[in-house]
This record gives sequence, C-alpha cells and structure tokens, in this order.
Amino acid sequence: MSQCYLLLGTNIGDKKHNLLQARELITARIGEITKPSAIYQTSAWGKEDQDDFLNQVLEVETDLSPEHLLSVGLDIEKELGRIRYEHWGERLIDIDILYYEDQVITSQRLTVPHPEIQNRKFTLVPLVELAPDHKHPKMKQTNKDLLEACNDPLEVVKID
Ligand code: AMP
Repeated sequence: MSQCYLLLGTNIGDKKHNLLQARELITARIGEITKPSAIYQTSAWGKEDQDDFLNQVLEVETDLSPEHLLSVGLDIEKELGRIRYEHWGERLIDIDILYYEDQVITSQRLTVPHPEIQNRKFTLVPLVELAPDHKHPKMKQTNKDLLEACNDPLEVVKID
C-alpha cells in the first residue's frame, strides 16, 4: 500500500456534489480515503468570467502505481464530465496527484510532487490541515513551511 495526496478542484455546477461523486469513485477505484480535508473556497480572482473554486485534499491509501493512479484519475475526470454536464466536459472536476509517498517522478505524463504545490494556497492550506509536517521530497521543506513562504494573494476560505 502506498500513501498519496490528491487535490480535487471544481468550479462548475453543483460543486459540493461533484466533490462527493469524485470521492465515491476514488474510494471504489483508487483506494480508501484515510483523511479528507475540509472543503475550501477560492475566488477565481482576476478571472471574473469564472465561478469560485471549491478544493479539497484527500489522503488515500492505494495499491495503484503512480502511472496507473494518473490514468484512473483522468478516467474519473472524464466520466464525471460526461455523465453530469456533457457540454462542460472534462473540466467539471480536476484531480491532481500532489505527493506519492516520497517519490520524485518526472516523465512526459507525470510530475510528482505536483510542480505547483508551493505556489498555490488553495493546495497548501488543505494540505497543512492534513499533514503539516510532511516534507516535500524535493524542496526538503514541510507543507507548513511552504505555506508560510507562499505569496499567493488568493484568499482561501474554509466552508461547512
Ligand atoms: P490539468 O488538467 O491542467 O490538471 O492537466 C492534466 C495533465 O497534467 C494530465 O493529462 C497529466 O498528464 C499531467 N500531469 C502531470 N503531472 C501531474 C500530476 N502530478 N497530477 C495530475 N496530472 C499531472
């Protein structure tokens, strides 16, 4: 079993329901969600044509390899887009692999840790909620340290 952290993001339709459906499919196809973060809202600041985003980070135990995990995540993105809101397509839900154990992977399809972790508060705030002392295997800093150093101006608000 390997531990990974996934980021869910959605800004279309019934966003809480999109997150719920994604969690159900992740449990069925990727593995047990051992810890879900709260749900956070981030305004699509500077992009007034877009609705606010909801984000959630999940700690998941999986038997899938990183490559297989990516493929299953992309399938879930496609399936939810197709089933629920055909015309919005794949952007209904986004699933990013943030960390996979302490692995560092750079391939054409996959970069782990996710290259934007340290730049985005909507990723770091829920990550710090779940795993403040987890160290980024490349940057050698904890999630908490990365959040303190992050100068992303977007406000991230915990909801429910
Ligand atoms: P996006 O829709 O902008 O999140 O980009 C999705 C694409 O990013 C996928 O097709 C992947 O091949 C690629 N990708 C690279 N690294 C990652 C990662 N850590 N998590 C999810 N997708 C990734």
